[in-house]
Amino acid sequence: NLNASLEQQDLDHLFHPCTDLAGHSRAGPLIWSRGEGVYVYDSAGKQYLEGMAGLWCTALGYGEKELARVAAEQMETFCYGPLFAGKSNEPSIRLAAKLSEWVPIDGARFLFGCSGSDANDAQVKLVRYYFHAIGKPGKRKILSRGNAYHGVTVATAALTGLPAFHKHFGLAMDEVIHLTSPHFYRQGRPGESESEFVERLGQELEQVIEREGADNIAAFFAEPLMGAGGVILPPEGYFQRIQPLLEANDILLVDDEVVCAFGRTGQAFGCQTYGMRPATMTMAKALSSAYVPISAVAVPPFMYEPIEKAAGEVGIFGHGLTYSGHPVAAAVAVRNLELMEERGLINHAAAMAPAFQGALQRLADHPLVGHQRGIGLIGGLELVADKESRQSFPAAEKMAFRVAAACLEEGLVVRALPGDIVAVCPPLIIDPAQIEELAGKLERGLDRALKSVQA
Ligand code: PLP
Repeated sequence: NLNASLEQQDLDHLFHPCTDLAGHSRAGPLIWSRGEGVYVYDSAGKQYLEGMAGLWCTALGYGEKELARVAAEQMETFCYGPLFAGKSNEPSIRLAAKLSEWVPIDGARFLFGCSGSDANDAQVKLVRYYFHAIGKPGKRKILSRGNAYHGVTVATAALTGLPAFHKHFGLAMDEVIHLTSPHFYRQGRPGESESEFVERLGQELEQVIEREGADNIAAFFAEPLMGAGGVILPPEGYFQRIQPLLEANDILLVDDEVVCAFGRTGQAFGCQTYGMRPATMTMAKALSSAYVPISAVAVPPFMYEPIEKAAGEVGIFGHGLTYSGHPVAAAVAVRNLELMEERGLINHAAAMAPAFQGALQRLADHPLVGHQRGIGLIGGLELVADKESRQSFPAAEKMAFRVAAACLEEGLVVRALPGDIVAVCPPLIIDPAQIEELAGKLERGLDRALKSVQA
């Protein structure tokens, strides 16, 4: 049978990323075969509600024929041409112009990549290039935070604040400094209020700037809300406390919108939801609703102008991928953003948010759930062994993985994150009935997992 032979070939030949490799060898793969709207189907034909939009990315849902048509047309017309050496292509030009309408950074230029990781990696290089160009080459260090997720290249994995992305790889790097995760539920001290917590984080940043020297620090990387680190929303007033310090010390706020951009928080960008004033911005994922790999960095004029001048001394600006500005990817991204506009997808996400968040709030009382949180169409359930003391389950219980596995049995895809957090982040096209379906399946998944520990 075809399925059995595919499974065997998976086990024999595939190296699965971000996977418990030994566990996978025992359990075998779950093979997806197709998708339609918010649903995906496995190779046995079973339907699942895709409650994670893949990896926080299939915003427009599955099977969108318009995007397939645009990709095919572009491949037939002009499949590839680099943007190197001043050559250009129409889809990239149209995408940059379209993004300049969306992105709240006046006069930004857009540098394209293939993934969130390579775009954030480019950000590290760009901020250093900029500071070199304005005569401050000492500004090299990058601030990040515990629980941050910025990617998996050497530089961005070092920025990522999750142990599994450092251990055994010879990371983290010098010149990356991690600050305390803004996770009040876990990092807040007994008796500490949320505003006291924010104040403590502000003082920590002050101390780090004092210790390292503002002349040595280039940038502060931040997701508006943290996705892969555990769906961690910034505490009230966090960016308002942090930003003046960054601005006073000429430390650039690099806004990693890879998860948040294009409607996830109920607004176009997470920075708008949280009152961030980004210097630069990274986008990927929903930029193409994941139909093709593409990412973008928004570079403001105050950075671009000195970069242009400094590049002149070298001859060229020496950064770019073969596929920076790939015409097929750019064409799909343009159409994806147009469809979002035509269908009022951001407003739709905002309109669905109360039902979605309300459904998750109902699960806060579940015996396994210590903390429930979210905004817009993203949410997280942090699982605990004891609600009162917030004690975690022993790691060996793999509680969040159990819940995710139980949800699969119920026909729902959710994601288990480090720290026993169950993440939910459905396609933005989800409707009220599907939200109810998601909540019902998630509750039954939690129940199943609870029974399995009690058994
Ligand atoms: N930044 C954030 C906030 C992400 O969530 C991710 C991926 O999940 C990345 C960067 C890296 O993007 P990619 O996996 O496309 O390299």
